[in-house]
Amino acid sequence: MIKLAVFGDPIGHSLSPTIHAQFAEQAGLAIEYIRIQASAAAFEERFAEFASGGGVGANITLPLKELAFQWADQCTAAAIQAGAVNTLTKYENKWFGENTDGIGLVADLQHHRISLEGAQVLLIGAGGAARGVMPALLAAKVASVHVANRTPERAEALIARIKSHVTSKPMAPISAGSLSSIPNAPFTVIINSTSSGLQGQSLALPNHILNTKPFSYDMVYGAKPTPFMQWALSNDCPVADGLGMLVNQAAASFQLWTKITPDVRPVLLLLRNRLGLWNSL
Ligand code: NAP
Repeated sequence: MIKLAVFGDPIGHSLSPTIHAQFAEQAGLAIEYIRIQASAAAFEERFAEFASGGGVGANITLPLKELAFQWADQCTAAAIQAGAVNTLTKYENKWFGENTDGIGLVADLQHHRISLEGAQVLLIGAGGAARGVMPALLAAKVASVHVANRTPERAEALIARIKSHVTSKPMAPISAGSLSSIPNAPFTVIINSTSSGLQGQSLALPNHILNTKPFSYDMVYGAKPTPFMQWALSNDCPVADGLGMLVNQAAASFQLWTKITPDVRPVLLLLRNRLGLWNSL
């Protein structure tokens, strides 16, 4: 029995146990994947209990990703660049930290036949999710990334961290600013990494960012398109939600723990049908 868990607060809504149960069934593996509620203050204690009970792999979600990064014995380059870990894997009595959010996003964009190489990307939001995907966007050889955030200082801090940690050169030009000061550039891909869609809130974005009909991706998913997706749809832009990113980042974690690469497609279909989620495909 492979003992796995997802840590976060809140955690009751997490789809990860369902996704990993499907992956395990595909692979013919016996796993136990549980939700563990842990505040930042309780994280180390809860994790120690999990590890002493035989836990060998874990996903980490809000608000613990930065903490897990500091706590891990060793981290991959992507996790170091992001300063956040969403996957911990036990190997020879050490815990290794990785961030699979970027892998998940890039895999899902590929599924949607979006080529990132040479793309002019607008990344909206500068929280943990934005930090997690920036290294993968740059590694995919985008032409440029502009990060726009409600609090522009957070966007500035994000690009400063990336500039000081990304070692592969040349790096695509990256810039940052507020939501209202987004440059009038020919964006080909817009990624909304804010949580605004969770509360059904609209973003105050300038219309010119849709002039080139960019592929408009929202990391949030639900029964209906988010206000950002509705806005993009009403301007004739192709859109997608973040369910594919969720399942693909889970697949990358599962691969780290078991060395088996699961098929994400049937799991995506099952989730959309079972949960009655909106389908952009
Ligand atoms: P976070 O660290 O709390 O950051 C939240 C971000 O959203 C910040 O940039 C914040 O701006 C912005 N924001 C929130 N409400 C807003 C509003 N009404 N108007 C404008 N900006 C707003 O959260 P996170 O970890 O980055 O996660 C963000 C979202 O991505 C969540 O909804 C999460 O569920 C989703 N996510 C999805 C996946 C996936 O696999 N699909 C993976 C990771 C995350 P300020 O800095 O100004 O506060």
